[in-house]
Amino acid sequence: MCGIVGFTGTRSAAPLLLEGLKRLEYRGYDSAGIAVMGNEGIRVEKVSGKVQKLCEKTGDGAAVPGSTGIGHTRWATHGAPTDTNAHPHLSNDGRYAVVHNGIIENYAALREELTAKGYTFLSETDTEVIVHLLEMYDSGDLKSTVLRAVARLEGSYALGVLCADQPDTLIAVREASPLILGVGVGENYFASDVTALVSYTKNAIYLDDGEFAVLTPAGITVYDCTGRQIEKPVTRVTWDVEAAEKGGYAHFMLKEIMEQPAAVRAAIAPRLRDGEVVLDEFDLDAETLRQFNKIVITACGSAYYAGCAAKYALEALTRIPVEPVLASELRYSDPLIDAHTLLIVISQSGETADTIAAMRECRARGAKALAIVNVVGSTIAKSADWTLYTWAGPEIAVATTKGYTTQLAVLFLLAMSVGRKLGRLDDALYPALLYDILRLPKLIQNAIDLNHGLGALAKKYHRASSLFFIGRNTDWASALEGALKMKEISYIHAESYAAGELKHGTIALIEEGTPVIAVCCNAALEDKTISNIVEVKARGARVLAVAFRGDRKIVAQANDCVFIPPIHTLFTPILAVIPMQLLAYYVAKENGCDIDKPKNLAKSVTVE
Ligand code: GLU
Repeated sequence: MCGIVGFTGTRSAAPLLLEGLKRLEYRGYDSAGIAVMGNEGIRVEKVSGKVQKLCEKTGDGAAVPGSTGIGHTRWATHGAPTDTNAHPHLSNDGRYAVVHNGIIENYAALREELTAKGYTFLSETDTEVIVHLLEMYDSGDLKSTVLRAVARLEGSYALGVLCADQPDTLIAVREASPLILGVGVGENYFASDVTALVSYTKNAIYLDDGEFAVLTPAGITVYDCTGRQIEKPVTRVTWDVEAAEKGGYAHFMLKEIMEQPAAVRAAIAPRLRDGEVVLDEFDLDAETLRQFNKIVITACGSAYYAGCAAKYALEALTRIPVEPVLASELRYSDPLIDAHTLLIVISQSGETADTIAAMRECRARGAKALAIVNVVGSTIAKSADWTLYTWAGPEIAVATTKGYTTQLAVLFLLAMSVGRKLGRLDDALYPALLYDILRLPKLIQNAIDLNHGLGALAKKYHRASSLFFIGRNTDWASALEGALKMKEISYIHAESYAAGELKHGTIALIEEGTPVIAVCCNAALEDKTISNIVEVKARGARVLAVAFRGDRKIVAQANDCVFIPPIHTLFTPILAVIPMQLLAYYVAKENGCDIDKPKNLAKSVTVE
């Protein structure tokens, strides 16, 4: 995920591009670059680091003259965040420049093909294949050249293309990554987010997947993927600049909750090929895998709870014992870990100090470490034996949402892949699991849609001084994360308990009106959890159940219900958390809390 911008008009492009990039910096901030059409061809300026560094390098754009250009702020997926890997990328003949948001899934095959044809690659990015394809397919007609090049791409991409032969023309292409056109007077724009446009124009055209546009100062023409011209409505944007920075959402957290279908898609799509889960980054053979007699998962906070939730899938599908251990505890526990231990290290930022230390301790004892990390090139990613990126894109809100669900998605893929290789995943079960994995983005969207009414429901719960989250098995793991979300952003005391354990102590705390959130998505244990619901209700609790859509049994027992679509039991945590994220969000909003920056918390905890 990154931010891209484009401008064509009569004003100086570079300052406008830089301004747009600053507004998009929340989408990616490891490097920045611009390409501007000048008198002597395309000039590219790019740096690793923040947009501010690029501003300093170019005198706020003054050093890069020209009135047509493209810009990029990167969130590295392929290749470290270096100057060379920063966008824009240039074709070998210098005539094409490209900025790209997304992932080209077939880049390895294309890179091989293009290298064999004599094209020289300068970067490690997936993106660079695009500029060489453009040069290879150059037909003298920019539109048809782009069409032919794009036809070769698989994956997600929003592209901005600049060609020296048509100095005032830009091409913008959209496939599964956001792209919006800005309609100005005598000038036109594109950007990943309306944020970058609103200070210049409020007239926007929202491209759909498969569409592309040709922009000149005089106008914008939109085409479908076959090259046929289409009419698109111009939408009047009503947001002010500040609101638009959050894409129209009141908070980054809500925006990131809504981004989960796309984020999970980015995490899983490149790893599914011909009905198989393929983890190129962790492609061990059965013999090597068989040497692991246990899996230890280490992490902190929500990442630890992702480990707790995935333990069930990992154990069920691989039949290897799995032990999640808090990183801050593991490092000082003289752990029983050796070369037969597979250590799974989970961290959104890849910089969590406790987790880094736990990983070092375990590796020193001979364990092999597999990292599950979001930030490319982070300390954990660089020091682990293998790394599976979650590709969630930048997460700004301190309380994680899409970071957590993408970790789960990757852990589920891992469980399936290892289980399959070890021959321990039942042939009859595999297609059912695969079917659910393929549908995950849709199911998550469905879970979000089913819970639009949570804002109203939150009004019943926001005054509570204490909430309890209960569940059994996978539902307990979901409850742990649900309670943490509530605590983090609403500052209401919330406690998570295994539903069957409640009566061994905590039930003493239930009194008239105490809210109990009961996660009830595990069909085999539903009756047991219902017994616990009845127990707490008998002591005055108000029960909000999280259940599968259409579950009548639970409707009859709970005071309120929120629903998720049905999914295999092992995967329920990835859906059950959605209504709990929304509940925490709306309760915190109701209480006027600073949702994106909760007190006392930091996003990346780099101290012990
Ligand atoms: N996959 C591209 C890269 O790693 C683009 C990433 C992005 O969207 O920022 O360079």
